[in-house]
Amino acid sequence: MRVVITGGAGFIGSHLADRFLSEGHEVIVLDNLVTGNTDNIAHLAGKPGFKFIHHDVTNYIYIEGHVDAVLHFASPASPVDYLKYPIKTMKVGSLGTHKALGLAKAKGARFLLASTSEVYGDPLIHPQPETYWGNVNPIGPRSVYDEAKRFAEALTMAYHRKHGLETRIVRIFNTYGPRMRLNDGRVIPNFVPQALQGQPLTVYGDGSQTRSFCYVSDLVEGIYRLFNSDEVEPVNLGNPNEISILEFARLVNEMTGNDAGIVFKPLPKDDPRRRKPDISKAKRILGWEPVISLKEGLELTIEYFRGRIFPART
Ligand code: NAD
Ligand code: UDP
Repeated sequence: MRVVITGGAGFIGSHLADRFLSEGHEVIVLDNLVTGNTDNIAHLAGKPGFKFIHHDVTNYIYIEGHVDAVLHFASPASPVDYLKYPIKTMKVGSLGTHKALGLAKAKGARFLLASTSEVYGDPLIHPQPETYWGNVNPIGPRSVYDEAKRFAEALTMAYHRKHGLETRIVRIFNTYGPRMRLNDGRVIPNFVPQALQGQPLTVYGDGSQTRSFCYVSDLVEGIYRLFNSDEVEPVNLGNPNEISILEFARLVNEMTGNDAGIVFKPLPKDDPRRRKPDISKAKRILGWEPVISLKEGLELTIEYFRGRIFPART
């Protein structure tokens, strides 16, 4: 297959590029590098079957020749990034999704949308199944991301219903691992570098809010299976192992031997109180569930950030 990955110079997109290439497919990455970095795909430069195009996908996408798959991963994804780029975030979720769907339609390609657990907002149902419609503040600071992704899901379903496009929608829950940008504002790229540099970890609020962290290789396996399945409606992918942010901060300090402790900072507005995926659908239709424990995944991520922060020592 010839596979187009938008946002392929970002964290998840670059791991997907590796996966599709390793399965023997051609990969074309489209990215404007707003939050991504060519370092993430530097190891692929010059490899047969790989191509990088610097392009903002909110503008018309031109690809010569046939395309079999379009995986739309372009979008700022860290709350700090999407608060910094609120309009770019809305544009890539709306106009960018429209362009990526248009490309898939023109080429007769299968389309996969990277959606998010944020479509559930600050959820009133726990854990969150795909049938839950969510609790999103439409005008709050996070709405630029949440509503853009909800629009993207609606547009994807409209292309499926109206044009018969083959579409897939993955609702990704908090995923982490190597190639996250240092200090991108998300909890793991904040905590791990803080701990490695002997600083106190910045816990927002009292740390009683929960998240469920999925290691990137597990996520990529799930996405690969979903892409190859015939499921049109959204599928949650994430690790159901729920942990409070305070407990998580203690774990990072323990694993890195950091004795600088924790400092408490204000909780951002509309920060979801609890989040945990119900993955029964993914288990049933994809035979998928995560296999990397939080400790294993964190070890690998700590090693990655150690290499970024202290390149000479590794
Ligand atoms: P990331 O910021 O590392 O990657 C996003 C990539 O998209 C970057 O390389 C960025 O430069 C690119 N991009 C943004 N706007 C663009 C545009 N207009 N044109 C071209 N490229 C553009 O983030 P990530 O964590 O890898 O997230 C990838 C996708 O997965 C996003 O769509 C995100 O919403 C979704 N997602 C991620 C998570 C997670 O936990 N990592 C959770 C839910 C959903
Ligand atoms: N968080 C924190 N300290 C940080 C960064 C984040 O306590 O330095 C909290 C944040 O308020 C949220 C959780 O960690 O409750 C996960 O935040 P992240 O930005 O990683 O993703 P979210 O799940 O909110 O999209």
